[in-house]
Amino acid sequence: MATNRTFTMIKPDAFGAGNSGAILKMIEEAGFKIVALKATKLTKEVAGKFYEVHSARPFYGELCDFMSSGPIIAAILEKENAVADFRTLIGATNPKEAAPGTIRNLFAKSIDANAVHGSDSDENAAIEGNFFFSQFERIA
Ligand code: ATP
Ligand code: MG
Repeated sequence: MATNRTFTMIKPDAFGAGNSGAILKMIEEAGFKIVALKATKLTKEVAGKFYEVHSARPFYGELCDFMSSGPIIAAILEKENAVADFRTLIGATNPKEAAPGTIRNLFAKSIDANAVHGSDSDENAAIEGNFFFSQFERIA
């Protein structure tokens, strides 16, 4: 059953380039409601824990270095069919393959500095939202 929430991060490249506001505007205009939102900076250890599922992949070390290289914005978003619709809005992992008008097409620089994270399943959306936000840091 599809739930109605997903989790996102605006990654250090997009935050550092001053694109957070434009990205949040696109997210809201696409019909996502913000349930929780914060700006923070990950340590390499925390980034490593968040992306632990990728720990066997060759780019894991670089991914953790990059995700801890500057501030990020983390958010829980609500919309019908949230996980799938959000991945459509952000586009393919590699910005060269991201459809025109998607967030990664507009703002990502490379496959590693790709502007945003989006959960890949309902189960991971819940795990990732709980990783970043306590019950007192979300609207509902
Ligand atoms: P995310 O989980 O960040 O939303 P994704 O689900 O589209 O992205 P994943 O396969 O989960 O892609 O990879 C996680 C992240 O690892 C990617 O967003 C990207 O930043 C990085 N990554 C993936 N593949 C590569 C690669 N071949 N080389 C370098 N970095 C990569
Ligand atoms: Mg992923």
